[in-house]
Amino acid sequence: MSLVEEATRIAREFDYPAEQVQRGVSEYIRQLNEGLAKENTTLSQIPTFVTAVPNGTEKGLYLAVDLGGTNFRVCSVQLHGDTTFSLTQSKIMIPRELMASGTSKDLFLFLARQIESFLRIHHNEHFEAHLRRRLDGNHEQDLFDLGFTFSFPVRQFGINSGTLIRWTKGFNIPDAVGHDVCALLQSAIDELQLPVRVAALVNDTVGTLMARSYTSPGETGTFLGAIFGTGTNGAYVEKLDKITKLQHMKDAHYDKSTGEMIINAEWGSFDNHLSVLPSTVYDHDLDAESNNPGVQMFEKRVSGMFLGEILRRALLAIHNNPKLAIFKASETSKVSLPSDSLFYRQWGLDTSLLSQVEADTTKDYVDVKAALKDHLKIENPSNDECEAVKILVHAIGKRAARLSAVPLAAILIDAGKLDSDDVVDVGVDGSLVEFYPNFEGYMREALREVPQVGDAGNKKIRIGISKDGSGVGAALIALVASKDE
Ligand code: ADP
Repeated sequence: MSLVEEATRIAREFDYPAEQVQRGVSEYIRQLNEGLAKENTTLSQIPTFVTAVPNGTEKGLYLAVDLGGTNFRVCSVQLHGDTTFSLTQSKIMIPRELMASGTSKDLFLFLARQIESFLRIHHNEHFEAHLRRRLDGNHEQDLFDLGFTFSFPVRQFGINSGTLIRWTKGFNIPDAVGHDVCALLQSAIDELQLPVRVAALVNDTVGTLMARSYTSPGETGTFLGAIFGTGTNGAYVEKLDKITKLQHMKDAHYDKSTGEMIINAEWGSFDNHLSVLPSTVYDHDLDAESNNPGVQMFEKRVSGMFLGEILRRALLAIHNNPKLAIFKASETSKVSLPSDSLFYRQWGLDTSLLSQVEADTTKDYVDVKAALKDHLKIENPSNDECEAVKILVHAIGKRAARLSAVPLAAILIDAGKLDSDDVVDVGVDGSLVEFYPNFEGYMREALREVPQVGDAGNKKIRIGISKDGSGVGAALIALVASKDE
């Protein structure tokens, strides 16, 4: 068997045909409804207490902060009321000692100080006016409403309250666990006497939905927001009476007048038991050797953090076949890799390589060669080596895009969104959907193959990129929250 034949054989293992998409959709609908009824299900279906989406006419100046990784972002958003906005932003690296050794008070005071210097630089007039009014004994006037994007697991009780379940991503400040992170931020803000009210706790996927709903054309409002970046997740507008588990949440408080609430699906964990998800030996080994085996199984087949690693494992399998030559010096390959090459290292291949390779339309593999050089320092690969890489990239990327159609189709079908002639608006964000060539096209191909969607349903779905979920999206949630008061 030749190198290209072997790559083609492995690529076929990544096929995800129409009938499997259909099975995925049926199972997703089952898990979706289970998640609306009970706690501790595979799909968490988290109620966000956000009960309305914007229509583009919202106005005002709002603050948003984002704590979720190495940087803390502070921004102010001026909503002009005509689907446009202006955004001013600053980004500060969080000192390592505050992430992992201090107390929660140290961390939140640091965050509040960043908000203070942001206000002094960008909104000093407002800030000074507030201080003057405070001296007059008028405390409640002219507060900025702030949306707090906090990308760690929280148990939410209302639009501006939620307790931290555990830290992730290198943070470790034990005394914060179990506490309301909005209250922690608010008390640090109050200690510095800032004119700021923490109005909303924001999930970034919900922010994506809100940002798209404000900026999207037309009056329908956005139905669903989805992220295909480092991870994957989605949020959508659900009928309140279907979220039956809310009845058991005695402490919950929210506005019931719209009859709807945005649900954060946490779909990265769809089908963790692998009842319907496709699986190759490469998926299996990636999971087994990850630091969280058995969870986020959908995400591990779809998102940017994992696609490069799936590809690396498939290429390595061919590399280790003594009868075939890929990336090892031989009669047919001039490539020889050092033993410390990224090719041999777990997580050594970034998913941006897949986008570069997939974009190649040249007959002598100009972009594939550039990608192999950029990512693996490989010089002079043969045409067969390039072709093998291209075949596998295409298979892995296409499966990810087709899998992405499953939650989308399932949520639309379950909500009855395709039963009328109305357009259904969907906002998406993330490097994969933005940069992987034809990601949306492959996703739509799979959508059309689902009988309950079909060509007619697919045409009703309008998909648009929605940026700045944690900026303008968070500001919009702060606005909705302040109107609930
Ligand atoms: P995040 O999801 O962390 O907010 P991004 O949407 O930029 O940020 O996603 C980052 C992920 O996307 C990383 O896993 C990275 O490997 C992957 N990525 C970066 N650039 C590209 C690209 N051009 N094509 C596909 N994936 C990419």
